[in-house]
Amino acid sequence: MAILTDTLALPFFNDDHRRFAEALESWADAKLPPLPHDDVDAACRARVKAMGEAGLLKTVVPQAYGGLYPTLDVRALCLAREILAFRDGLADFAFAMQGLGTGAITLFGSESLKRRYLPPVRDGKAIAAFALSEAEAGSDVAALAMTATPDGDGHVRLDGEKTWISNGGIADHYVVFVRTGEAPGAKGLSAFVVDADTPGLNVAERIEVIAPHPLARLKFDGVRVPLLNRLGRSGDC
Ligand SMILES: Cc1cc2nc3c(=O)[nH]c(=O)nc-3n(C[C@H](O)[C@H](O)[C@H](O)COP(=O)(O)OP(=O)(O)OC[C@H]3O[C@@H](n4cnc5c(N)ncnc54)[C@H](O)[C@@H]3O)c2cc1C
Repeated sequence: MAILTDTLALPFFNDDHRRFAEALESWADAKLPPLPHDDVDAACRARVKAMGEAGLLKTVVPQAYGGLYPTLDVRALCLAREILAFRDGLADFAFAMQGLGTGAITLFGSESLKRRYLPPVRDGKAIAAFALSEAEAGSDVAALAMTATPDGDGHVRLDGEKTWISNGGIADHYVVFVRTGEAPGAKGLSAFVVDADTPGLNVAERIEVIAPHPLARLKFDGVRVPLLNRLGRSGDC
């Protein structure tokens, strides 16, 4: 607690935040050190499971779906990340990705998408990922080239590649940003939720980085996704 005492005294934190931070610090000190480190995929899965079982991932989904706060509370998220990162970088990574890989679903998903994808992520039973970057599109999101084209029967077909995708290879679902082409540049983009086991979605390469975490290049080759898995209207995400 000593490290955070000054921070928690700031007026924009309330007593709920202080209790949350105190409980999380105790949990992290007791539970993180024994978790495995050797195999990065296993280490990541173990952290997601432990955080889910402890209720910590309730911070990344809204109350209507079993979360802690009515809407995502950025101050609680910052506290959680600071407390976890100070002790265990991979735990912070795993926590952040559960939020990043569901944030667009929380904000723009239909009721049925929220009910399907948020509770397993909250409980640490599913791993989330966010797939936006491509070889030629990082900061410049409007340059992304991966396409979604109508494929009949209420489906679209996704074709292209994503790279530098955290949790690539271990995720249960990916929120994938693609060009739907309603307008040029950034106005012609949409996001779809894609289950990791959908035919045509393959891990083309695992990428090694100095601070180990699961990272991959993904190939989408005629991946059929229901239009109902689209997040928001075109241009919303
Ligand atoms: C460890 C790791 C994990 C990642 N995880 C994910 C993930 O889960 N999902 C995902 O979608 N992506 C992920 N990424 C990709 C990351 O989001 C991109 O690397 C990032 O958006 C930058 O894009 P880029 O690599 O194409 O670099 P570029 O966009 O080519 O940028 C290169 C340099 O140019 C600068 N620059 C770019 N544009 C401008 C401009 N207009 N004006 C001035 N300077 C500019 C940048 O600041 C940077 O210094 C990850 C990357 C890493 C390294």
